[in-house]
Amino acid sequence: MTVTGDRIAAYGEIPRTWADVVTTARRTTSEGLVVGTSGNVSARVGDVVLVTPSGVPYDRLGPDDAVGVDLDGRRVLGELTPTSELPMHLAVYRATDARAIVHTHAVHATAVSTLVDELPLVHYMAAALGGPVRVALYALYGTEELAGHLLDALDGRTGALLRNHGTVTYGSTLDQAYDRTAQLEWMCRLWLTAATVPGHTPTLLTGAQVAEVAEKLRGYGQR
Ligand code: 13P
Ligand code: ZN
Repeated sequence: MTVTGDRIAAYGEIPRTWADVVTTARRTTSEGLVVGTSGNVSARVGDVVLVTPSGVPYDRLGPDDAVGVDLDGRRVLGELTPTSELPMHLAVYRATDARAIVHTHAVHATAVSTLVDELPLVHYMAAALGGPVRVALYALYGTEELAGHLLDALDGRTGALLRNHGTVTYGSTLDQAYDRTAQLEWMCRLWLTAATVPGHTPTLLTGAQVAEVAEKLRGYGQR
């Protein structure tokens, strides 16, 4: 593994973070959020963004397959071609404090992306993503246009749906980004389940109720 230029400072963290990227990518397939080589995962170490390579099954990725790019997309580590969704990942790192990003084609979330412009506030866990999750306008996968639509949809949120495509979430760790994807997929499944009961319409929370949850979640769990 070779690292160029001033990225040398981050070198020690790179093998460990790459192992976490691969573990997270494998979870997306083993937990049913993608099939085949769909989706992609990245994490930021200093100015280096470690990304899954394009079109390589995650179970074939080993310690020597790390792919790293700088924030302008220049490859600084590895031989494999980075994910085709590099424009989307880099746009999020440039615009937010994200340290990790997960993109999937989770089935319920993708179904919802074809039905509404925003996931209705069917559950309080919307607060974990910053409020009602928006659907980014459709654009061809792997384009700057799609990256732009994603940034619009992410305003004030840590996750978005991509129309007729899938999910994107980010976080300060890979586990947090992954958990947000899992929560988003679960909420989409919940809404589809409730919204398709004949003769009934799901009750929804208000923005104020979700904002109150966001406040309370700051103290959630163990100290
Ligand atoms: P990559 O294999 O290039 O990461 O593409 C998968 C994908 O989900 C594109 O949107
Ligand atoms: Zn995709």
